[in-house]
Amino acid sequence: MKWGLTNGGKAASFHYSLFTIHYSLFTIHYSLFTIHSPVPTRDTIISNLPFTYQIRRSSRATKARITVAPGKVQVVAPAGIAERTLHRFVEQKQQWVVQALNRLEARVQQLESLAPEFYIDGAEIPYQGERYRLNVMPTRLKRIKLEFSDRFIAHIPETLPSGDHSEAIRDALIRWMKVDAKLKTEYYVEKHAHKYWLSPRSISIRSQKSRWGSCGIHNDIHLNWLLILAPPEVFEYVVVHELCHIKVRNHSSRFWQLVADHLPDYRQRRNWLKEQGSRLMMGL
Ligand SMILES: [Zn+2]
Repeated sequence: MKWGLTNGGKAASFHYSLFTIHYSLFTIHYSLFTIHSPVPTRDTIISNLPFTYQIRRSSRATKARITVAPGKVQVVAPAGIAERTLHRFVEQKQQWVVQALNRLEARVQQLESLAPEFYIDGAEIPYQGERYRLNVMPTRLKRIKLEFSDRFIAHIPETLPSGDHSEAIRDALIRWMKVDAKLKTEYYVEKHAHKYWLSPRSISIRSQKSRWGSCGIHNDIHLNWLLILAPPEVFEYVVVHELCHIKVRNHSSRFWQLVADHLPDYRQRRNWLKEQGSRLMMGL
């Protein structure tokens, strides 16, 4: 058995898998993060267990697995497995689930956010795997304007009442980073799509608490804007990962080979997310 760490929740989460492709019946699905977006149907099951859980039916799931995020237990299963079978599975694994919940809780408390406490002059802003100084300056403009060169500059309208602008600056930074994340996604798609004709129908940026990216059945690619806080090579890896799902819809060895064709060092990039992803998910 292996422990799997993923970014299923605000911090980390564990996966437990019933039927995996590579292992026998009861193994832990070892996965970095949930990257798909199956069609969800969710019912909260309240039972004699010390926790409640939801069942999510997924057209893509080939096996049932238990996902534990802080305060949240979910069983992701293909349509074919009866609810009582899933319930038995959860019952059998309840000790594992409780342990995973406790471990996650401890982890959440240890995690330190990348975000500064206040968005004030001199604060350090995470961006593309580095930290940049924030300068706050008055401006005659009517709205907050953000600039980036070797640092972030927040121009604050003189007409704004003086005092705490931290929240407004934070909002402006997030808006700026979302736009930037979109541009960078387009750049990486452009860079890699032509190689094997992996052209998405659309590209969009989302705020997600548990996913880095997804590729829908019509090849619409969504990317989590928080990836802009990660080093560029990690950002690129997630874009390539989703692009490769246009051709291979699962995580088979064929899929990883395709990823490796684009990014021979993808494992290192993936490892970065595995280690740092939880902090990233905490956001700004
Ligand atoms: Zn994937």
